Amino acid sequence: MSETPSETPKTPEIYKCCDNPQITYLAPVNINIDERTIGSVDVWRCAACMKAFCEEKTLGIDSITDIVGMPRIEDDEKWAVIVSKLQKGKDKWKLVKLKQNGIIKFETADEKLIDLKIQDYKIVDDFHSSFLVLDHIHTAVEI
Ligand SMILES: [Zn+2]
Repeated sequence: MSETPSETPKTPEIYKCCDNPQITYLAPVNINIDERTIGSVDVWRCAACMKAFCEEKTLGIDSITDIVGMPRIEDDEKWAVIVSKLQKGKDKWKLVKLKQNGIIKFETADEKLIDLKIQDYKIVDDFHSSFLVLDHIHTAVEI
């Protein structure tokens, strides 16, 4: 793969959280089970518009975030982790985007699509709970 030096790389659409994006790494939120870290959520933030971007990381899988791959989040959504009481280990949690209220289509570890109820950015369900990633910056969350 070679690049033509005269061409300025075009900023992919996904960068454009605002007119002047300055996205930098903020902090990780560690996910713990029995005080052992099993994964983490990397949090990136745009210094201009303060929008946050999150990436899920499972321990042992080495991935370096490429800003091009920054997932988009809408203004009315917040980054959250859904915790399943039915699963164990790495299948027990998943990074999602929650709206304030409504229903989220959630894919379980065995690839079933279920509806989960959201109330004020929180999952209300007998077998699932959730927390907001940005409330736990620099900390570890026991699930
Ligand atoms: Zn921005």
